[in-house]
Amino acid sequence: MPEFIEMKKIDKGRASTVGTVVKVEHLKKFFAVRKGIFSREVHFVHAVDDVSFEIKRGGVLALVGESGCGKTTTGKTLVRLYEPTGGKIEFLNKDISKLRTNADRMWFHRKSQIIFQDPYESLNPRMTIFDIVVEPMSVQGIGNIKEREEAVADILQRVGIAPPETFMWRYPHELSGGQRQRVAIARALILKPEFVVADEPTSMLDVSIRTQVMKLMLDLINEMDMSFLYITHDLSVARYMADHIAVLYLGKIVEMGEIEEVLQHPLHPYTQALISAVPVPDPEFQREMPKIKGGVSKPIDPPDRCRFYERCPYAMEVCKGTCPPLIDVGNDHKVACYLYNKNG
Ligand code: SF4
Repeated sequence: MPEFIEMKKIDKGRASTVGTVVKVEHLKKFFAVRKGIFSREVHFVHAVDDVSFEIKRGGVLALVGESGCGKTTTGKTLVRLYEPTGGKIEFLNKDISKLRTNADRMWFHRKSQIIFQDPYESLNPRMTIFDIVVEPMSVQGIGNIKEREEAVADILQRVGIAPPETFMWRYPHELSGGQRQRVAIARALILKPEFVVADEPTSMLDVSIRTQVMKLMLDLINEMDMSFLYITHDLSVARYMADHIAVLYLGKIVEMGEIEEVLQHPLHPYTQALISAVPVPDPEFQREMPKIKGGVSKPIDPPDRCRFYERCPYAMEVCKGTCPPLIDVGNDHKVACYLYNKNG
């Protein structure tokens, strides 16, 4: 497995990985659906189902998995764009699962932000770059006009939109895709948040500018000592950006740990399949492929068994019983699979 992904990795140099910024315990987010317009029967999509993890100060956790695995729902629930169905989210030791007062909401939204995938849709085309970037300051009532202009100029300069005074009064359609995503990053970072959810922020960009934007984010993470949840389906991006990884499958974390440990020693059949799907630029190279079956199904009222059961080449009788718990197999490496759970 070590041959995969030979992308040069930047020394992330994060020294202050002490203290937990985000702690998620048994988080659940279900959506009610009806199977037909006239049906009274209500079913539930278990988009996020009993997910737990922590992100340290200055740390980047990559959340990976195929489309439809619940990555974006997890991110949106963490920044409270969705109300959790169950579980607990602690942010800076404060329970933010229920933000009861307006002051709590303002405090949380000042310290947490989200960067969306699509730089073409996430910026309002009728607003100037200045108005877009300054919006979080205006909403929070921070600074006077002069201070806001200085803050916008400063953050635009830092994300490489320079000279800022040239770009501030332009509209998004006058910018390239890479510049728009830099503006989206500037808007997310203008309040110097302590936690950011980045939802596939480079997947819509040309390959040529993707690495520039990723490097920019890493530099800003180091400089501003922020914590990130970095959502991606691309393991090479995860390896470049993150120090820890959580692999999500149908709303459940199936494997988690320090990123090099997990990528070099993947244990769960799903993680192994994801790694085997990463292209290697060597026509001679032959890799052992786990023969997984079918595609990702919808997690509607899923039975209490391993979520990967239908696709798993190693499925056993015990896997039909209950969902395997996430257990520590050493080196802070956790896996949810009965192949490694002797008590299963
Ligand atoms: Fe496969 Fe069973 Fe492990 Fe699930 S618990 S991944 S079905 S071996």
